[in-house]
Amino acid sequence: MKGKVSLVGAGPGDPELLTLAAVRALNEADVVLVDDLVNRAVLAHTRAGTRVIAVGKRGGARSTPQAFIERLMIRQARAGRNVVRLKGGDPFLFGRGGEERAHLQAAGIAVNVIPGITSGLAAPMVAGISVTHREASPGVIFITGHEKQGDAERIDWKALAASGLTLVIYMGVASAQRIQCSLIDAGLDAATPAAAIANATLKQQRIARGSLHTLASMLRENAIASPAILVIGEVARASVQQLQELAA
Ligand code: SAH
Repeated sequence: MKGKVSLVGAGPGDPELLTLAAVRALNEADVVLVDDLVNRAVLAHTRAGTRVIAVGKRGGARSTPQAFIERLMIRQARAGRNVVRLKGGDPFLFGRGGEERAHLQAAGIAVNVIPGITSGLAAPMVAGISVTHREASPGVIFITGHEKQGDAERIDWKALAASGLTLVIYMGVASAQRIQCSLIDAGLDAATPAAAIANATLKQQRIARGSLHTLASMLRENAIASPAILVIGEVARASVQQLQELAA
């Protein structure tokens, strides 16, 4: 039998938010490589005897090197196994899915991708925030707040501030203060509503609300820790009613 790799989105946390395609892939897997952020409860869909390999950061340890993960997948697929690479949220949103697919394909491995519900959509949703709204925002921008990757330096804060669109920020807790300053310096009104949602869709879920001006202190005061999504924009106003009043 020819092996293959499926890059599978596990959704934001609640196992109910898996797709039927993800459930089927898990059920057909011989080997599952599972990332840190994935709720282990979803592994209930694997068969007895499926090998599960954790490849995320464990207890503050460094994450498994990317090259090692890719070699492991290639080896398993070449041995004829059906490999599932299970990632939090969606594999193509800050999940390195694109990179992994390219490397696997270059090695001649068949790859398919199963999308998942990304935390950047699920987290605002549990806070009652509609990321687009006819009255308040005609669009939404997904960005990373991660500093180390160097991605954040490539972000054009001025363009974001001027866009008038909802900003949904992944990996932004550690750099919240810098994000706050960058956006205010770039001209975004400090009174712009902001919300933060940690562990969305899980029982440890926490939601905090404030404004761009209070973003970093709001996280501290509400003990919001990673993993969390930050939402900045008019849509983050406390209630839909307020949004409607805004429109009136
Ligand atoms: N591929 C993932 C994102 C991976 S990057 C996705 O599509 O959701 C990791 C970041 O995702 C975290 O730092 C956090 O910003 C966000 N995240 C993942 N799960 C989350 C959850 N349950 N609640 C809030 N944020 C979450």
